[in-house]
Amino acid sequence: MLKLFNDLTRKKETFKVQEQVVKIYSCGPTVYDYCHIGNLRAFSFDDLLVRYLKYKGYNVIHVRNLTDVEDKIIKALNNNPDRNLKDYTKYYIDAFFEDCKKMRLTDSSYYPRATEYIDKIVDFIYELIRKGFAYKVHDGSVYFSLSKFKEYGKLSQLDKRDLKQGASGRISTDEYSKEELNDFVLWKAYTPKDGKVFWETKLGKGRPGWHIECSVMSISLLGSTIDIHSGGEDLIFPHHENEIAQSEAFSSKPFVRFWLHSKHLLINGQRMAKSLGNFYTIRDLEKQNYNPLALKLLFLSCNYKNQLNFTFDSLNVMQKNLNDINQLLGQLTNYFSENQFNEEKHDAVQKKSEDIIKKVKIALDDNLNSPLALTHLYDYISFANSLISSGEISKKIAELILDYFKDLDSIFGLFTFQEKISGDLEAKLWQRYNARKTKDFATSDALRKEFDSLGIVIGDIPNGFTATRKI
Ligand SMILES: [Zn+2]
Repeated sequence: MLKLFNDLTRKKETFKVQEQVVKIYSCGPTVYDYCHIGNLRAFSFDDLLVRYLKYKGYNVIHVRNLTDVEDKIIKALNNNPDRNLKDYTKYYIDAFFEDCKKMRLTDSSYYPRATEYIDKIVDFIYELIRKGFAYKVHDGSVYFSLSKFKEYGKLSQLDKRDLKQGASGRISTDEYSKEELNDFVLWKAYTPKDGKVFWETKLGKGRPGWHIECSVMSISLLGSTIDIHSGGEDLIFPHHENEIAQSEAFSSKPFVRFWLHSKHLLINGQRMAKSLGNFYTIRDLEKQNYNPLALKLLFLSCNYKNQLNFTFDSLNVMQKNLNDINQLLGQLTNYFSENQFNEEKHDAVQKKSEDIIKKVKIALDDNLNSPLALTHLYDYISFANSLISSGEISKKIAELILDYFKDLDSIFGLFTFQEKISGDLEAKLWQRYNARKTKDFATSDALRKEFDSLGIVIGDIPNGFTATRKI
C-alpha cells in the first residue's frame, strides 16, 4: 500500500483514490532561461511519482504547466527589446522539452501555457471579486485579500502574528519572502516596463500574476480538487500558499489532497546561483560528456525529502554505475550459449527476480524511497553479472532477466537497451566462437577484429559468449 508524506498534514498517509484515477498538477518551468539542474531534480521526482503510480495500475492524469508570462520573463524581454514574448518563450519551451527527452521524463497528459488561459484567468478573478476575496485598486490591478481567507498559511505554517503584520499592505511582484507577507496580486495593470506584453480584457489592460495562472490551469483541466500537487520546496511560500487561497476561495472545496515537495539541490555545499558561477544546465553537463541519465540516477540515489549535494565526484560515480548497468543489459540482450534450458535454474532465477521486484515495490511504497529501491536494483545487477560471468545460464534465462530489467526501467526510466544481434551477424559470431573452440586462433582473432571495427565487443564466457555494442 502506497504511503506518501503529505506536506499539508506533515504526516505519512496512505494514498487512496476512487476508481484508480489520479489527478496530478506539477508546477512547470518559467520559460525565461534554460532549466537548471535544481529544476530538473523536482521534475525527475515528478517522473518517479507518475511512473510508479502507473506501474501500480493507476490511470494518471498529469498536468505540467509552462509559465510563459511572469516577472522574470518581462525582465528578460526588457533586456532583449527586439524579441517578442511568444518567440522568446518558444525557444526555452523547446529547450525544456529537449531536456525532458534527454532525462526520459515521462510525457505529461497536458502542458498548458498561461498565455492560452488569459480569458479563463480574467473570469476566475471576476469570480473572486464577486465573492469578496479580491479587490481592485486605483491603478486597475487586482489583489487577493489575505484577511478574507481564514486558512491562509496552512501549508507553510505561517504564524498568525505574521499574518496580522502584513495584512495592511500589498505586494505586486510575483516572488517575495515571508517577511513581505501582504495581499498578493492577481492581475497587474499595465505599466510601461511591461513593454509589448499586455492583454486588453474586461479587467483592463494588463497581465496576470504568476500564482493565479496555476490555480486556473489546474481547475480548468483537473477540476476543483486534485489528488497530488508537486513542486520544489521553494514553491511552498508564497506560490503554493497563494494557489490554495485562490482555488479554495473560488470553489469552496479543498484544492489538493496531497502536497509533495522535493528538497533543494546544493552544488558543492552551496546554493545554486548564477552569481556564484555554479549554475548548471543539462547542456553544461553534456559539454563535459556526461549522460543526462547519470544525473537522473544521482537524483534517484537520494530521497526526494533530503537535501542532495551535487558534486562532480558523485556524478562521475553515477556515470560509471550507469555505464556498467547498460553494459550488463547489452550482455543480456546478446547472450549466446550452448547451455540447454534448465527448468530448475529458470525457477530459481525467477524466484530471485520476483523477490527483487517485491523489495523495490516495498521501498517505493514507503514514500518513494528511491535510494532503498536502488540498493535492491544493485543487488539484482550483481546477481545477473555473476550468472553471466559464470556462463551457467541458457539464452532463455538471460532473456527472462532482461525482461525484469525492462520492468524495472518502466519505474526508473534510466536504462539504455541494445538491439538484438541476429541473422548473418549472429552466424558470424558463432563462427568465431567455434574457431576459438577448435583452437583456430587465426580465424577467431581476425573475426574478433572485424567485430571490433563494427563497434561490437565480444566477451568469452564458459560455453558461450556475449556481444555488446560499445557504449
Ligand atoms: Zn505553479
